[in-house]
Amino acid sequence: LPGQMMDAPLLVSALLQHADRYHGDTEIVSRTVEGGIHRYTYADAAARSRRLANALGKLGVEPGMRVATLAWNGYRHFELYYAVSGMGAVMHTINPRLFPEQIAWIAGDAEDRILFFDLTFAPLVAALAAKCKTIKHWVAMTDRAHLPGHDIPNLLCYEDLLAAESDAYEWPEFDERSACSLCYTSGTTGNPKGVLYSHRSMMLHTFVACQPDVFNVSSRDCILPVVPMFHVNAWSIPYAAPMVGAKLVFPGAALDGASLHELFESEKVTMSAGVPTVWQGLLQYLQANRLKLSTVKRCVIGGSACPPALMKTFENDYGVKIHHAWGMTELSPLGTYNTLKSKHLALPKDEQFAIETKQGRPPFGVQLKIVDGDGKPLPHDGKAFGDLLVKGYWVLDRYYKLDQSPLVDGWFPTGDVGTLDPDGYLQITDRSKDVIKSGGEWIGSIDLENVACAHPAVAQAAVIGVHHPKWDERPLLVVVKKPGQEVSKDELLALYPGKVAKWWIPDDVVFVDELPMTATGKISKLRLRESFKDYKLP
Ligand code: ADP
Repeated sequence: LPGQMMDAPLLVSALLQHADRYHGDTEIVSRTVEGGIHRYTYADAAARSRRLANALGKLGVEPGMRVATLAWNGYRHFELYYAVSGMGAVMHTINPRLFPEQIAWIAGDAEDRILFFDLTFAPLVAALAAKCKTIKHWVAMTDRAHLPGHDIPNLLCYEDLLAAESDAYEWPEFDERSACSLCYTSGTTGNPKGVLYSHRSMMLHTFVACQPDVFNVSSRDCILPVVPMFHVNAWSIPYAAPMVGAKLVFPGAALDGASLHELFESEKVTMSAGVPTVWQGLLQYLQANRLKLSTVKRCVIGGSACPPALMKTFENDYGVKIHHAWGMTELSPLGTYNTLKSKHLALPKDEQFAIETKQGRPPFGVQLKIVDGDGKPLPHDGKAFGDLLVKGYWVLDRYYKLDQSPLVDGWFPTGDVGTLDPDGYLQITDRSKDVIKSGGEWIGSIDLENVACAHPAVAQAAVIGVHHPKWDERPLLVVVKKPGQEVSKDELLALYPGKVAKWWIPDDVVFVDELPMTATGKISKLRLRESFKDYKLP
């Protein structure tokens, strides 16, 4: 018996239409690449997205075609999110921090038709253009006065395109299972793989992302996504903000502590999101300049493990609640999010904190399980750790253009290793590639890194397995000290007894000036292992 309620496909264009209708005067503020701050409203953004959709149509963009961007978080990128997906084409955000050969490969694999770029990337585009055979137009996301002088074929100007069009445009209705956007994983081994989100998966993800036990956003919030729009859709904030009518602040290319602090204060930001390294940078800036955060109430930290020391400092010294979250490109990205349950509210602070440092629990729509080496399910007792698999409405079914299904009995293997407790809280112990194998047993590097990060002189810490003649691998702690601060190897090693099993304690400590980073702002364990592959432990 069919239900008798109105039926309309779940399409992302509805989000901007809603914000336009009911939050039309709510602001979107951007730090621009050209210099200065740009501000306008959801109504302006909606009108300009309609103009852009008309312009894309004139350039030959048809439903299903891929349109790429190399761009920071800014209002023009936001307009592209809606114009491209809204008209039925596929928004392909490319990570500009990848190597140029990888970018060219990705653009070719995606068969991108047009590529929009921020001025920062004009030299990159000039170098790439000849290698990207499928791209018919390169559009500089600027006005005529700022057009780059670089030698770029078929160069178009964003503002000229918009100026030539009317803002009369009806967003089309189509199947909600149509592709909406495309994002490639960074591909630490082999070629990057494309994850093709559908309108339906993106909408369901957005509904859940807004919930009180997740981002908990409302029309009273002002959200500044530090996480880039080229990294898994800025964790869906460009969709969640218009869904609830929150003010949006885009930081552009300036992700340093000083620039972020200025925007947080001037725009009265209430909520933000990003990877741990960004918050470490901000914290150092705040501490060095004795500054406060007067309006920010909460931050989502994910993408790699958030050191508990960082969470504690933000909460105790700055009044900012940190919510730890775990996700992946393949999960749109939301897998788990950390908030306490009612029964935890009566617990002593340190017990609450022990729960809050975990990666969180799945919201409705995501299921998790952990299995041993033979694929047998492990208990959810908070102790047993094994390979993590996931299932859900916004989890990848197969990679773009790859025939072989990555699923195991209908579950997506994440490549992460972790524990699950009886309340559903996930704790990631490591990526399976990074787990240290010592004498046939596993050592998780994240716990070891967290201990070192708690020392006040430590800016960053990474633990990797290095070759050991007897044990196969043993942990090596690699540390970056805070500027002007001192700490010795013995002081660091003295932190471990009582906090981790004795045989987990690193065999040695090395101090370095900086750690290698990936294109998504995480410590690259792969490159670190390469640099220390011949390291002789004492
Ligand atoms: P990339 O590998 O390109 O950076 P992803 O953002 O998809 O792309 O990375 C997902 C991976 O990041 C996860 O599989 C996991 O290893 C790691 N990760 C994400 N969030 C966390 C977290 N809170 N704690 C530990 N690891 C995390």
